[in-house]
Amino acid sequence: MKMRDLQQGELLYEGKAKKVFAVRGDAEHLWLHFKDDLTAFNAQKRGSFQNKGAINRDIASMIFRFLERAEVTSHFVADLGESDMICEKLEMIPLEVVVRNRVAGSFAKKFDLPEGGHIPGGIVEFYYKNDALQDPFVSDDQALYLKAAKDQRELETLKRIAINVNRELVDFFLAIRVDLIDFKIEFGRNADGDVVLGDEITPDSCRLWDRDSKERLDKDRFRRDLGGVSEAYHEILKRMREVHGARAMGGGVK
Ligand code: ADP
Ligand code: UDP
Repeated sequence: MKMRDLQQGELLYEGKAKKVFAVRGDAEHLWLHFKDDLTAFNAQKRGSFQNKGAINRDIASMIFRFLERAEVTSHFVADLGESDMICEKLEMIPLEVVVRNRVAGSFAKKFDLPEGGHIPGGIVEFYYKNDALQDPFVSDDQALYLKAAKDQRELETLKRIAINVNRELVDFFLAIRVDLIDFKIEFGRNADGDVVLGDEITPDSCRLWDRDSKERLDKDRFRRDLGGVSEAYHEILKRMREVHGARAMGGGVK
């Protein structure tokens, strides 16, 4: 695939954090544009900061490249410009797959537990991706009833890959002195029918705590009005570039 020949096609979907375009004359790929917008609480709270899209695009593509080397396949194909990414078009599985290493966020609230407690081995949860229903938690049987996944085997595949991603990302973030508290990922089926990682992995979708100061370096700064939102995202990218940059930037195209 020759990146310089690519032309943006029609806008297919505008989400809260990204715009999804077709690639002209190419049904197998999508053109993702990362927006500067920031939303929380099912888009009831809205904000933005300059260069957020570019920062998240860089973070996501570095993570996808890192995971590729760890043999976790994703939709990532190439970076384009500052805030855009070419990816494989997937048939998305409408589940938000959350992995937790520590008690935080909705888990802390639901079980009235203090944030920060370790969850040995990590746990995986499924949420049904539906804005109108506010992405409710679903059991395996509920996910199957809703036909979100093909069968129990596919759910097991999602869990297995999610745990693999977690293992790799815990080490990735430890190397930049950050604890990976929890994160959300999405999957889809590619043209071969294989389940691969889609969407993004960024400070929008992860909880990232500085190992030393315990400071939050993620979207919780925005959710909880802690200030320094832009600084936190910049800090994550800066550390990633310092530690993982040289390796991750090699070979932009799959
Ligand atoms: P949301 O839909 O939650 O507001 P975004 O603004 O990030 O989220 O929109 C991106 C949309 O693109 C999401 O609905 C996501 O499921 C979808 N998506 C991500 N990667 C792919 C892909 N490779 N193929 C098809 N759809 C994708
Ligand atoms: N998350 C996400 N999108 C969502 C819901 C959650 O990216 O729609 C991420 C969130 O950033 C956190 C993890 O998933 O890293 C677990 O979120 P939680 O269930 O605690 O929900 P929250 O407290 O964010 O509502």
